[in-house]
Amino acid sequence: MEQTYIMIKPDGVQRGLIGEIISRIEKRGLKVTAMRLNVMSSESAKEHYKEHAEKPFFASLIEYVTSGPSVSMVVEGKNSIAIMRAVNGATNPVNALPGTIRGDFAIETGRNVVHASDSPESAKREISIHFKDTEIVSYSKIDEVCLYE
Ligand code: UDP
Ligand code: MG
Repeated sequence: MEQTYIMIKPDGVQRGLIGEIISRIEKRGLKVTAMRLNVMSSESAKEHYKEHAEKPFFASLIEYVTSGPSVSMVVEGKNSIAIMRAVNGATNPVNALPGTIRGDFAIETGRNVVHASDSPESAKREISIHFKDTEIVSYSKIDEVCLYE
């Protein structure tokens, strides 16, 4: 099963959108297999966004994602990487279609509510920054839970 790394950024948490965002992920048919709410360390944030280290927005991006608590998740399911990129919508919310998270809840690139890994390589790298293997549950365990005593 494909895994991707999802973050509800501090603006999403501050605005009370955690439930709304997780609800969209679950309703789409994907499963959360790891989850944490914390203030991301500057070290983790810089490692996470290292591809952007030379960009003019890098400092403000690190300041933004470490400015308050965020929710980190591993989300799992068939084609989860491509599906979550589509669920989130375009990076600049001006271009994000209604029905996407950014298209429904954001108005500017610098406060665009969510992150999703953009490729299998990024997903593997990002998951390893934010989670230990032992913090991720086996996807199949979720369906093994018996709903009767
Ligand atoms: N970002 C920004 N200004 C820009 C481009 C990006 O503040 O001009 C921020 C924005 O929060 C974005 C993140 O940097 O989500 C990472 O940029 P990327 O191009 O990787 O977009 P994403 O993968 O998040 O859609
Ligand atoms: Mg990106």
